[in-house]
Amino acid sequence: MAQTFGVNLRGVIDLLSHHLYSSPRVYLRELLQNAVDAVTARRLADPSAPGRILIESTERTGNGTLRITDTGIGLDESEVHSLLSTLGGTSKRDELGFARQDFLGQFGVGLLSCFLVADEVRLVSRSANGSPAVRWVAHGDGTYEVEVDDTARAEVGTTVELVPRRDCDHWAEYDTVAMLAAEFGSLLPVEVRVAGPNGQVLVTEDELPWTRRKDESVAQHHERLAEYCRETMGFEPFDVVPLEFGAVGLTGAAFVLPAGANPGTRQAHRVYLKRMLVGTSIEGLLPDWAYFVRCVVDTSALRPTASRESLYEDETLLAVRDALGTRLRDWLLRLDATEPERAGAMLAAHQLGIKSVALIDDELLRLAERWVPFETTRGTMPLRQFRRGHATVLYTPDVDEFRQLAPVARAQGIGLVNAGYAYDTELLKRLATLDGANTARRVEPSELLAALGRPSAQVAAAMKRTMSVAAKVLDSHDCEPMLRDFDPVSLPALLVADAGGARRRDAADARETADPLWQDLLGRLVDADSGAAQQLVLNTRNPLVARLAGIDDPTLLETAVLALYVHAVLQSHRPLRPKDTATLNGSFLDLLDRAIGD
Ligand code: ADP
Repeated sequence: MAQTFGVNLRGVIDLLSHHLYSSPRVYLRELLQNAVDAVTARRLADPSAPGRILIESTERTGNGTLRITDTGIGLDESEVHSLLSTLGGTSKRDELGFARQDFLGQFGVGLLSCFLVADEVRLVSRSANGSPAVRWVAHGDGTYEVEVDDTARAEVGTTVELVPRRDCDHWAEYDTVAMLAAEFGSLLPVEVRVAGPNGQVLVTEDELPWTRRKDESVAQHHERLAEYCRETMGFEPFDVVPLEFGAVGLTGAAFVLPAGANPGTRQAHRVYLKRMLVGTSIEGLLPDWAYFVRCVVDTSALRPTASRESLYEDETLLAVRDALGTRLRDWLLRLDATEPERAGAMLAAHQLGIKSVALIDDELLRLAERWVPFETTRGTMPLRQFRRGHATVLYTPDVDEFRQLAPVARAQGIGLVNAGYAYDTELLKRLATLDGANTARRVEPSELLAALGRPSAQVAAAMKRTMSVAAKVLDSHDCEPMLRDFDPVSLPALLVADAGGARRRDAADARETADPLWQDLLGRLVDADSGAAQQLVLNTRNPLVARLAGIDDPTLLETAVLALYVHAVLQSHRPLRPKDTATLNGSFLDLLDRAIGD
């Protein structure tokens, strides 16, 4: 008599195919998993029991079905009822419902995944407990039949047969099946063979590819791992790091990507759970900073999610991530001690990740200090080298400020470091915490000003009229002019705003658009510190600036000063305010007009 599942099977299958599994291909993994578990269960009681799994593609069976046979523990009639015909029925939990560590499957939904590709699933089994053989046939519409038939099968074990759905034939054909079996099952501890039109092939390997062989030297092992990486991961590793973490039964290898890894790319590790492939782009196995490393690992303790296509983010995964992070960090320190040149190249190539951990790890901070290149006014070099010539590292916290100040600082012989990229400023602050407050300090533009020479009294006198015109026209830009005599000669003017000045300028900007209630308050803030928010430092060494003194036409002089001002604003990379844009247009067109003449 036909009986029905306690749930709407179509609905469940729909749920599985659309929301749980990423592809129907998982059906083969689930079948393999059940077969391996059955062999494992049988061997627990009888270690000498045979362990073989045979998958026969449709070309081989000849009757349109895919067949998988195992020498596992088998099922008797009552188990077929309770385990196969109940959603969530599984023999792989202990009395309290916890997953049993010996087994791959744990959820009791695996067999249903067969309906992703099949209309009908048939199972014939003989239990190791001596019960008669039993037949179970389940249909996609949610009905199934169970029948005891002691002639159905002589040996202990189970055979599952799938009748593919009309549009799913290819999932049961040899090429696909052999490929899937090799992908998911090549490392399984039970012999797996796939039979096709031309005989059988063994898909399982005896040993994990990353395990060091007895007769192998460290160098040979290393080279074999690199070969594995080229073949399986598709890149030439910068280095390989064997991994082992006994507490969670983890072994494997980490492959360091060659230069050019993008910190934004997702981690993609190849992960096996009890030697069954979980996936090839599993995330979360390493800390974020190690984005330039790809791993292959097998572990027994991590938990898969229900789809078994990713890892469950639990305490064990956190512990694994920590342990593997520490391993990679120690590898880095060792590389630095034994092959400093290589370590330097590696750290320069993946500096973002290294800098991010250096913030919390003092030893890596020292590595970063020694190897990670910084842009400085003395050229690109690591901080350690820069520090040899400078008791205090002066830095700018943003790139634009560096661009603006660097030529001036360089010309005055002042060393300056560009700390405008990710983590740079924090890194320097951390160095200052460790090595003393004087180690590194943000440079104030005003202190650079103090280093600039003053023009001679004669030059200052000649510029007097120019300066008073400049003071007048720049006033509305909240800027005051100043004369200095400095290198580089090619730089006519420098715009300097210190932190306080920038704040006042922002407040002044805000006041112009704020509603009356705020205008008053912002006004007081602006007035609290008289003096302009920014200074236009005119370089008297620059020939163009020197010639300003000789301009008789007052409007031309005003335009020239304004043009120098907007030029300096543009050089400083600070955003143009509407008033600046208007000045830029006005002065440019006026100068063009004069240049073209009548
Ligand atoms: P899971 O494998 O997650 O437990 P399944 O729905 O795939 O869930 O299987 C349910 C139960 O049926 C298993 O726990 C196991 O006890 C039994 N079973 C499935 N396939 C086999 C097999 N080939 N041999 C023996 N028992 C099996």
